Amino acid sequence: MKVGFIGLGNMGAPMADNLVKVGHEVVAFDISEVRIEGAVRAEDAAAVASGADAIITMLPNGTILNSIYSEVVPHCPEGCLLIDCSTVDVDSALQAHRRAAAANLLSLDAPVSGGVGGAEAGTLTFMVGGSADALELGSPLLQAMGQKTVHCGDAGAGQVAKICNNMLLGITMAGVCEIFNLGDKLGLSRQKLFDVVSTSSGACWSMNTYCPAPGVGPSSPADKGYAPGFAASLMLKDLNLSQQAAAGVQAATPLGALACSLYSEFAEAGGADRDFSAMLLHLGEKQLEAHS
Ligand code: NAD
Repeated sequence: MKVGFIGLGNMGAPMADNLVKVGHEVVAFDISEVRIEGAVRAEDAAAVASGADAIITMLPNGTILNSIYSEVVPHCPEGCLLIDCSTVDVDSALQAHRRAAAANLLSLDAPVSGGVGGAEAGTLTFMVGGSADALELGSPLLQAMGQKTVHCGDAGAGQVAKICNNMLLGITMAGVCEIFNLGDKLGLSRQKLFDVVSTSSGACWSMNTYCPAPGVGPSSPADKGYAPGFAASLMLKDLNLSQQAAAGVQAATPLGALACSLYSEFAEAGGADRDFSAMLLHLGEKQLEAHS
C-alpha cells in the first residue's frame, strides 16, 4: 500500500520503519528533520496525501491532530483510510472522525500500548475505534506494526479503552510503590514482599512484570536508574485525559484523580523525564519530609 505517515517521533519513526520493512511505500512528514531509511520525505503534511491508500498519524495531542487533519483531509484521494495512532482526548478523536466522514473517508482511532520497545519490535497492541469496514482496510498496516488488535467499538472507543487501561496502570503502579514504601518503613525485605504479592491476590502487571524496586523481579526500568520506559510525563498526560473524560460524563474516578495529582506532583518535583515507576522514590521522599 502507499502510506502517508505524519509524526516521526519516538513511536512514529519505528512504526513507519516497520511499514517500510514489509514492503509498503511510505511517504513521511514531521516538522523536525527526521528521516526514515527507505521512506520518501514529504515537504509538508498535505503532500503525504498524494495518491495515498492510507494516512497514519502519531502526534502529541488532539489539537495538533485536528490541525493536521484540516490540512490533509482536503487532499486525500477517494478511498484513502485515515488511521490515528496518537493518544488524544476523546472529543478530539471524535472531531477527527467527523472531519474524515464529511469528506467521505473511512477513519480509525487506533491508540497503542507497548511503548517504544513495542514500536521497534512491531509488537504493539492497537485499541481500535471505528467501523468494521475501516478496520478491515487498515488491518494489513496494523499487523505490520503490532501483534494484537482489539476492535473496541465505534469511533472514539479505542481512545476510551486506552485511557481506561492507563488510568488503571497509574493507579496500580502508585499502589505497588506505596506498599514497597510501607514495607521499607516497617523493615520488610523488598524481595520478600515481591515473592508474596507477585504470587498472591495483590499480583498485577506493575508488580509482576514492571516491578518499581531495583533488583527485584524481572528486569525493568528500575534496574536501569529509572530511565524510561514510559516517562512519568506520558503517564501524567494519560491520567489528565482520563480525568477530562471522566468530568465530561460525570463518572466517579476518585483513585484516578488521586493518581493524577500524585503524578502531577512528581512531575513538578523533577520526575517528568524519569520512568513512571520512579514514583517509588517520590513516595519515599514524601514520607521522609512528612516526618522531618
Ligand atoms: P514524540 O514527541 O516523540 O513524537 C511526536 C512527533 O510529532 C515529533 O517528532 C514531532 O516533531 C511531531 N509533530 C508535532 N507536531 C507536528 C506537526 N504539526 N506536523 C508534523 N509532525 C509534528 O512522541 P511519541 O512518544 O512518539 O508519542 C506519540 C504519541 O503516542 C503520543 O500521543 C503519545 O501519547 C502516544 N504514546 C506514546 C508512548 C511512548 O511510550 N512514547 C506509548 C504509547 C502511546
